[in-house]
Amino acid sequence: MARSLQFIGGTGTVTGSKYLITTKNNRILVDCGLFQGLKVLRERNRKPLPLSPRSISHVVLTHAHLDHSGYVPLLVKKGYSGEILSTRATKALCGILLPDSGRLQEEDAHYANKHQFTKHEPALPLYTEKDARHCLKYFRTVEYHQNIKLSKNISFEYFRAGHIPGSCIVKFNLGGETVVFSGDLGRPINNLLPQPDRVTDADVLVLESTYGDRVHDREDPEVLLERLINKTVQRKGRILIPAFAVGRTQEILHFVIRLKKQNRIPQIPIYVDSPMATEATRVFLSFSEENRLTAEEAADMRAHARFVDTTEESRALNDSKESAIIISASGMATGGRVLHHLEHMADVPENMVIFAGFQAAGTRGADMVAGARQIKVHGRMISVRAEIQCLDVLSAHADADEIMQWLGGFRKPPRHTFITHGEPQSSEALRKRIQSELGWSASVPDYLETVSLDRL
Ligand SMILES: [Zn+2]
Repeated sequence: MARSLQFIGGTGTVTGSKYLITTKNNRILVDCGLFQGLKVLRERNRKPLPLSPRSISHVVLTHAHLDHSGYVPLLVKKGYSGEILSTRATKALCGILLPDSGRLQEEDAHYANKHQFTKHEPALPLYTEKDARHCLKYFRTVEYHQNIKLSKNISFEYFRAGHIPGSCIVKFNLGGETVVFSGDLGRPINNLLPQPDRVTDADVLVLESTYGDRVHDREDPEVLLERLINKTVQRKGRILIPAFAVGRTQEILHFVIRLKKQNRIPQIPIYVDSPMATEATRVFLSFSEENRLTAEEAADMRAHARFVDTTEESRALNDSKESAIIISASGMATGGRVLHHLEHMADVPENMVIFAGFQAAGTRGADMVAGARQIKVHGRMISVRAEIQCLDVLSAHADADEIMQWLGGFRKPPRHTFITHGEPQSSEALRKRIQSELGWSASVPDYLETVSLDRL
């Protein structure tokens, strides 16, 4: 049985995850993500895939983040009409994230055309909100820890990844050959989500390496937030937290609400200003089996945050100079309402912008964390004078030590491990570590590389 694996994304970058398994009768696309960040990467979204979408038999998603699911509407638009398999929470979250992604692309294209700062005339969205809603019809949800048959010899099983609600590790059985995709691995220590499941065996492993060259701060995130918030309020500044709508927003809310209840920070308002984050919080709280909150903590999340609804209310937030915590998306400041807040808040030295997770190369977030004194927002240069902080400790990704710990669950080494989903230096660092500490065979595949799963 000739089986192969092709890396159509998630190589040399943390975005664009798409892995194609080809067997005699099936073509399974594992994840279907958008490229984000650097322009050279984003342009790949507009290039044709190396295969016809119609020739794909199944799409299996690890989780709802756009860099794993954001290409689905385009795949369907280009003719894919098979099933898109996911967990229930992933489907619910895709139901929020994908239409939002379509809407943002329409808005960006409209804005670019209106202000004519595009070189492509006219700017076109990759897909629209309507396209995104349409693709949701193709989703089929399955449970964790069940053997899902795709054809006579091919099946897969979802394990919990503990990265965001609904997130999975996927284990395929391809006619006796097992291939495991780690997806995005969560952390063994997480206040809100279950721990990643242990996986004990794989013939071939495809492993993420977002933090392959780093370990997270072991400081308590609550203590860190307490210190940064108090410091900013003392100098009469405001706090802007660009946060991913799914997972991170809820985690930060959980911490700041607790800090406020315990009077460890002043009684300042906490705003969630992202319609998507508001929706994601609703979904998060409705899948109680996907989170570890007590009933009281869940009720606090609903009661103590002010969820900003309309754009008028959002703009009004910038009329006030009073100290407040504004949590807004997107997490890497690549789009969304957070941009309007940056326009008003970034040039005020008393303010603080706290980035709360990985900032991919080429994003405004990465530039600001690296110390950029100016950023471009909506075609206009803005001075950065606010204090910029980045809390890696809030990451939803396992760090290098935690990945190694998870690999410790394997009873015997996979025949080969492919290191993906990382900037080149992270993937390379993890490869070296896996080879030297575990003695496993491991490599970092190139973009569009195809490997035979039979000859490994
Ligand atoms: Zn993710």
